[in-house]
Amino acid sequence: MARKFTEKRLVIASHNPGKLREIAELLEPYGIEVVSAGALGLPEPEETGSTFVENAELKARASAEGSGLPALADDSGLAVKALGGQPGIYSARWAGPGKDFGVAMERVNRELGESPDRSAAFICALTLCWPDGHCESFEGRVEGALVWPPRGERGFGYDPIFVAEGESITFGEMEPARKHGMSHRARAFRQLVAALFEND
Ligand code: IMP
Repeated sequence: MARKFTEKRLVIASHNPGKLREIAELLEPYGIEVVSAGALGLPEPEETGSTFVENAELKARASAEGSGLPALADDSGLAVKALGGQPGIYSARWAGPGKDFGVAMERVNRELGESPDRSAAFICALTLCWPDGHCESFEGRVEGALVWPPRGERGFGYDPIFVAEGESITFGEMEPARKHGMSHRARAFRQLVAALFEND
């Protein structure tokens, strides 16, 4: 059985402003005080894992050990079917040192070329680690298709080229509350809440 989260404070082990905002919004209803790894001056560990869960765990573990508080990390990305699941765990790295997602989206589109299969999924692993080293991990995904050119100014990362299954607008065009209802992060988060925040 999963260990319950009974503390009042949580470190969000991310330096990505888009993720920080979304995770803080998802946590808001639970009355948990959140502080970011950046605000505590915690370093960003190298993402040496080979899966989303491995990377989420190494980030959460580093922040929990560094702060003495429970820490929640997200490792996520876009998996494009015709590219064999790329960029996957390298989604952030495709944006280069300037973290320019215009560049990353161009690369996805270029590598897809004329491929008729535009299907893709966003995947999110969420891991909560306690300072004693115990961790709990959850994974959520949302299926969809890629469009070109990018559309919308909302969200972050690859949102402007992703249309979720059953939708006609991109995540970049969508109201944040609507994205939170269906996103990979929201789906992983719902599992985490059910396992760690709710009483059996
Ligand atoms: P990492 O988990 O910090 O390695 O980075 C994941 C990368 O995947 C982000 O920088 C985004 O480019 C992309 N990504 C993850 N979640 C989303 C999302 O909800 N929308 C758009 N892009 C995302």
